[in-house]
Amino acid sequence: MNQTELAHRLFPAIERLPEDVLSSYPARKLKEGAMVTRFGPSPTGFLTIGGIYATLISERLAHQSGGVFYLRIEDTDTKREVEGSIGDFLQALSYCGIDPDEGPTASGVETGEYGPYKQTERASLYHVFIKDLIARGLAYPCFCDADELQQIRDKQQAAKLNPGYYGEWAIHRHLTPEQVESELATGKPFVIRLKSPGSPDRRIKYTDLIKGEIEMPENDQDIVILKSDGIPTYHFAHAVDDCLMGTTHVIRGDDWLASIPVHLQLFDILGFRRPEYGHLAPLMKMDGTSKRKFSKRKDPDAAARYYQQEGYPGTSVKEYLMTLINSNYEEWRMSQPEAPYSEFRVDMNKMNVSGALFDSNKLIDISKVVIARLSADEVFEHTAAWAAAYDSELEATLLADRKYATAVFQIGRAVEKPRKDIAKWSNVKDLYGYFFDDWFNKSAAAGCDALPAAMPSELAKQIVREFALTLDFQDDRDSWFGKVKAIGEQLGFAKDAKTFKKNPEQYPGHIGDVAMILRVALTGRTMTLDLYDMMQVMGEARVRNRLKQFIG
Ligand code: GLU
Repeated sequence: MNQTELAHRLFPAIERLPEDVLSSYPARKLKEGAMVTRFGPSPTGFLTIGGIYATLISERLAHQSGGVFYLRIEDTDTKREVEGSIGDFLQALSYCGIDPDEGPTASGVETGEYGPYKQTERASLYHVFIKDLIARGLAYPCFCDADELQQIRDKQQAAKLNPGYYGEWAIHRHLTPEQVESELATGKPFVIRLKSPGSPDRRIKYTDLIKGEIEMPENDQDIVILKSDGIPTYHFAHAVDDCLMGTTHVIRGDDWLASIPVHLQLFDILGFRRPEYGHLAPLMKMDGTSKRKFSKRKDPDAAARYYQQEGYPGTSVKEYLMTLINSNYEEWRMSQPEAPYSEFRVDMNKMNVSGALFDSNKLIDISKVVIARLSADEVFEHTAAWAAAYDSELEATLLADRKYATAVFQIGRAVEKPRKDIAKWSNVKDLYGYFFDDWFNKSAAAGCDALPAAMPSELAKQIVREFALTLDFQDDRDSWFGKVKAIGEQLGFAKDAKTFKKNPEQYPGHIGDVAMILRVALTGRTMTLDLYDMMQVMGEARVRNRLKQFIG
């Protein structure tokens, strides 16, 4: 039995040759310099914030160059597959507004001409290339079971040699055709291994897009390329896929750097053009005073989902990640406050070589700016959509009176320097809840606690009583404030804080304290939006009601 016969014996159903497959995946018609990138998650968990970071880079590189960004599900490790994982990836991508041009979608329909985009659905494609490697004597079946592999490792350990299946240790590399024949006859399961031409004495060199010049020993391991269940290993599958799908640039975590000798070797042996690789250091977070990597298991904020649940707009997360991708982004943003982030050009040479620090306080600040730029209607829409998923009480309140809620969000918004108070939709209840009677009534009992301790509650009630008497909703801001001042003077308050400070014993407080009492009466809080604006939005009936409630 020669190699070709062996290949045929192992893959009798595979008739196509590599050139047939290659010609059915024609080169993409893209302009010079257009990059084709991909996001290739394994459905073994959930999308992390670091995953979003890497994906955003891939998406930007493709789209800013007029190329293609696609999604490929790398599900060769069927044992580690977690149910719901693909759904989590799709959902997290859509939350951030990172839209692949091709690949699986939430509706279950795949888009794109280079599919299928799920590795387990591509088995017969991989088999074509594996059959060809066997026929060319570059791969072979290995029948070693777990015990035999362990024995090899034990011997290597005793001899203080590198562990693994390579060189003279790769015992089935040297089986005669007759031996292969008789192993096959027993029906023993087997894997296909690459006959590695590499030697640890030689080194490979390549230029990483992020880390620069890299030198490593060649791979000499006869790695498994096809598992006994007929599914290839990730290493092999990705090489075939990246070739057929026309990937030009691969951006991924630097935990993959160690696999580079294997990956480059596979591309070379298969006769494929190597993509360019960029390996990213992991995102870091602060833990007390020291920096560390995110832990997928222990840190809830490692999951992209966390940011959605908290109510950060996807655009805020993306906006913040852009500042981590290229440090000149912030400067650009300052000069282009309104421009879409996609007008910024990501530069691979300006990327963070050591792990970028993901600072949640910075995210909060950026998100406040992002939300401050939205219209009241948009704030309403986003908050209601978030509440529909995470806070039904808030949702019901907002939907009960959309006009009122929008008017509330409008306060301090359509001005030159809009308020920067909301960082995430879950802040809305806390920041604006007092506008809504249900919440106000709940906190009203505690309302008087918000009064300055030195203020006798009888005096506070007197202020509110006077205010209610003189209140005319037609008053403009100035006449309204004139009346507040008059009440203060009438009740012996100092006309300003400065006067009060000179002789504090002479006054019960100053005019600011009078306004504070009104604020507390109307909201149960000491910190609120502008009192006059607030009253205008609350409307006369609500205001009079709350004043009455306060007087008791
Ligand atoms: N499927 C791999 C992972 O989930 C991706 C590796 C790559 O991008 O080449 O880590």
